[in-house]
Amino acid sequence: MSTPRVYSVKAYSTTSAQTPLSASSISRRFPTPSDVQIDILYCGVCHSDLHFVRNEWGFTQYPAVPGHEIVGRVTAVGEGVKNFKVGELVGVGCLVDSCRTCPDCRAGLEQFCPEMVMTYGSTDKHLNVPTLGGYSQSIVVTEDFVLRIPANLNPAAAAPLLCAGITTYSPLKHWKVGPGQKVGVVGLGGLGHMGVKFARAFGAHVVLFTTSPGKTEDAKRLGAHEVVVSKDGAQMNAHANSFDFILDTVSATHDINAYLNLLKRDGNITLVGAPEKPLGVAAFPLLFRRRSLSGSLIGGLPETQEMLDFCGQHSITSDIEMIAIDQINTAFERMLKSDVKYRFVIDMASLK
Ligand code: NAP
Ligand code: ZN
Ligand code: ZN
Repeated sequence: MSTPRVYSVKAYSTTSAQTPLSASSISRRFPTPSDVQIDILYCGVCHSDLHFVRNEWGFTQYPAVPGHEIVGRVTAVGEGVKNFKVGELVGVGCLVDSCRTCPDCRAGLEQFCPEMVMTYGSTDKHLNVPTLGGYSQSIVVTEDFVLRIPANLNPAAAAPLLCAGITTYSPLKHWKVGPGQKVGVVGLGGLGHMGVKFARAFGAHVVLFTTSPGKTEDAKRLGAHEVVVSKDGAQMNAHANSFDFILDTVSATHDINAYLNLLKRDGNITLVGAPEKPLGVAAFPLLFRRRSLSGSLIGGLPETQEMLDFCGQHSITSDIEMIAIDQINTAFERMLKSDVKYRFVIDMASLK
């Protein structure tokens, strides 16, 4: 494959784990025959962006540009593109490519493909440099990894669906959450508030666990039937052995055993939060009542489109706080204090 020509776009990037994000310029390839070129309108701010730019997972290459909750407008398409036209509103999530042929890709589970290319932090197949994310003016993505945004949704509030949405929708679907079940969501941040909305929309009895008592009313407005302040042992004990399923969205070290003890026989807790340090899992809470602990990673392309369409049908979007891109470093600090209601979204017009 010959190296495509590139053009320059504005972006926000960082050169080390200790350096704040700042304005820079990066290269994007001109669209190849299968590519869609997108002018980015909005990009959600995921806690993964923060983990990544600060190299908390240990694989960041610099300069780094985060951002994988992208909504924008198509500005050009390659001559082979069949499904998208100039002017359409589209989305790009955490993945921009995969091998297309392995069992995971054939099953529509591209997030597990050994050769999956993440929107940032992978190696770009075309330019052989690290992929650079959505805190930028435009992005060029092969059409199979571009998603449709339902016309009835607010485009800015739809952006977080591309990661926070699919990351919570997918495990709730996988574990068949529905009516008659008691379901917990741990943490009311970007992922957690989407988890509450989906678990409620799927018909479960929803209990939100929070370390922030001030979020109680919001949690109920967002769809929780009950709210438990997790620092209160008596409130926790009142729910012992009672949950069918718990979705853990916490971004930092916490006591997972306290939640395992709340599961009933054969109950499952699924981790989607990705703390920097390992969690200490005690054996007994798993042994007793045959409980299980598992994880889940975003979702594949077909399920991401299914989730977006579900959101269109049920008018589900994220609760957002819009920021200009020069507020991103402050937004990261607020996110670390769990002070987000409930997702920051960058208005990319502020980068022009
Ligand atoms: P977020 O908006 O910062 O929300 C995290 C929430 O966790 C906070 O709002 C807070 O909720 C709770 N929390 C934070 N620190 C805590 C602590 N020390 N103890 C207990 N609870 C704490 O983050 P996010 O964007 O939702 O992301 C959450 C995690 O999921 C991150 O680790 C991110 O990297 C990961 N993630 C994983 C995937 C995946 O595919 N698996 C995809 C996206 C993100 P309360 O104030 O309610 O307690
Ligand atoms: Zn994310
Ligand atoms: Zn594959």
